[in-house]
Amino acid sequence: MKKILVTGGAGFIGSHLCERLLKEGNEVICLDNYFTGSKKNIVHLLDNPYFEAVRHDVTEPYFAEVDEIYNLACPASPIHYQHDPIKTIKTTVVGAINMLGLAKKVNAKILQASTSEVYGDPEIHPQPESYWGNVNPIGLRSCYDEGKRCAESLFINYHKQNNVRVKIIRIFNTYGTRMNMNDGRVISNFIVQALKGENITVYGEGKQTRSFQYVDDLIEGMIRMMEAEDNVVGPVNIGNPTETSILDLAKKIVKLTNSNSKLLFEELPQDDPMQRKPDISLAKKMLNNWQPQVSLDEGLEEVIRYFKSII
Ligand code: NAD
Ligand code: UDP
Repeated sequence: MKKILVTGGAGFIGSHLCERLLKEGNEVICLDNYFTGSKKNIVHLLDNPYFEAVRHDVTEPYFAEVDEIYNLACPASPIHYQHDPIKTIKTTVVGAINMLGLAKKVNAKILQASTSEVYGDPEIHPQPESYWGNVNPIGLRSCYDEGKRCAESLFINYHKQNNVRVKIIRIFNTYGTRMNMNDGRVISNFIVQALKGENITVYGEGKQTRSFQYVDDLIEGMIRMMEAEDNVVGPVNIGNPTETSILDLAKKIVKLTNSNSKLLFEELPQDDPMQRKPDISLAKKMLNNWQPQVSLDEGLEEVIRYFKSII
């Protein structure tokens, strides 16, 4: 039985990861300050004697003897990470230093949940890991983008300088059950608006693209990355390469929900990336032919059922 620490474990992705790790017979410590996560996401795990929920902020040091660390603590939606940008930088950078220090002390393997945002508004399409990105260092998104870029640098340097066994994955837009319905991300916004019969808020003309991955596919990729040989350090893109424009996504969600909602075009936020699609050839090669299994339609149906049940 492995002892595994999941920071940000009460969040959307973290709660699915904790669930899967427990199912596989591990002992799990879920560390969270509940900024964007919620006890509701993990309440079904609290009776499990091998699960422990700890209220803790990763900007403060933490100690536990563990074998593996998944570092997910960080608000992920633009409205949340822009709410207190300095705190976001501290969480990504100081949080990474604290967790890497712990990994070094207890000789644990550590995986960083990095992001496609390190590519900024990309000039290369689709994005391979070798692309260095196009990030505005002083823009609205920089607290998150530059924080995550700095964290990648910390991970690589703890590996090179201190032989810490690190793994970096770059996660592309992920959706699924337990997304916070008020966190402003596009899939939760559109589904909730469609179910309530409200206007669907499309930013700009909706020509910008994203490639959406269902959470189960991400969790599988994360676990395969952690289990890969120590020389598989990454960064490795984990995402679904099926690309869709935001306008097409809005129309699809209206159709799938049978909604009467109308599209409302609003101003495009500053530095909103125009196109995003992962090149996943490296993940396929290094992670035992990993590739997404859930189509956008199947995943959306699942999330629509979920939001119907909680609205
Ligand atoms: P989320 O907001 O649901 O989860 C983040 C969790 O981290 C929350 O439970 C929150 O309370 C916790 N947290 C935030 N600051 C903390 C701190 N200082 N100390 C302790 N806990 C803290 O978001 P998510 O979508 O589940 O994202 C999880 C991770 O995956 C994040 O690191 C995010 O950057 C990364 N990621 C997510 C996506 C996506 O599309 N969902 C894409 C790329 C990367
Ligand atoms: N978006 C939108 N309407 C919304 C929320 C988001 O048109 O109500 C757009 C947003 O401008 C971006 C895309 O959807 O182009 C994805 O936004 P999200 O915040 O989900 O993720 P990110 O921009 O971080 O990829």
